[in-house]
Amino acid sequence: MKQLFFILALLLATGGSVMAKSVKKQHVILIGLDGWGAYSVPKAHDIPNIKNMMEHGAYTLMKRSVLESSSAINWASMFNGACTEQHGYTEWGSRTPEIPSAIVNSRGIFPTIYSILYEQHPEAETACMMEWDGIKYLVDSLAISRVEVVADYLNNLDKLTELAEDYIKEKRPNFAAFCYDGIDHAGHESGHDTPAYYDAIARADRYVGRIIQATKDAGIFENTIFIITSDHGGKEKGHGGKTLLEMETPFIIYGKGIKEGYQITDVMMQFDVAATIAEIFHLKRPQAWRGQPITSVFKGRR
Ligand SMILES: [Zn+2]
Repeated sequence: MKQLFFILALLLATGGSVMAKSVKKQHVILIGLDGWGAYSVPKAHDIPNIKNMMEHGAYTLMKRSVLESSSAINWASMFNGACTEQHGYTEWGSRTPEIPSAIVNSRGIFPTIYSILYEQHPEAETACMMEWDGIKYLVDSLAISRVEVVADYLNNLDKLTELAEDYIKEKRPNFAAFCYDGIDHAGHESGHDTPAYYDAIARADRYVGRIIQATKDAGIFENTIFIITSDHGGKEKGHGGKTLLEMETPFIIYGKGIKEGYQITDVMMQFDVAATIAEIFHLKRPQAWRGQPITSVFKGRR
């Protein structure tokens, strides 16, 4: 009983510092654009919001996918900070690892950025919203406050953005990912590097603008870091191979505490995305992760 009293007293005494460490005033919004090859960025004209984020943030057009350069493998690596051989998701549409994950957490899944944010800051409000439902199997859904899949998104192209806008204004999330599939769809349907492909990128840019505006409406813009990136690129009507057209994707980071007009020269891999987000929230990274934070994007750091 005395011990219990001591613990309670300690909790009360340290209440101030515990509050100071909370992530409640930190916000990271990741916008994932499936199939968005880095090759397209210099050629795309109608992307004012993305260009503004590059100009006033930090970016690289050489972030590399893990092989094969397809979806589930790379969404997994992006969120779980590890390479294929570790997490075990090896195929385009993997829902469970074909190779047993080298380690799993208490929910039976290779630890993702959501897992460690939840475990280290249970108070954090988080979301993963997507058009392609394959992502929900990879992210540790039970550790996420809100998971949404847009049904039949091709007939409801604005739906994900509407969900994102409402959610941001209602919940002011600490970490939310909004994953769009339209660019990848255009690549498969009409071909990469075609007018239809660039139309899809322009549409995505308008969604980016709306999401940024939603953070302003919610009053969190000044405390938000935005990340825009992709799982893989593509060529002709596909992807999965070893060309840089398929393997190089943009990574753009913009907002509070991020250098402005900074071109990242560090080598960046898909699994460095999770590590960089972990760094923003000052999270301890699992030993199993191989991703490294790209610290050069932060003001005052190299
Ligand atoms: Zn994909």
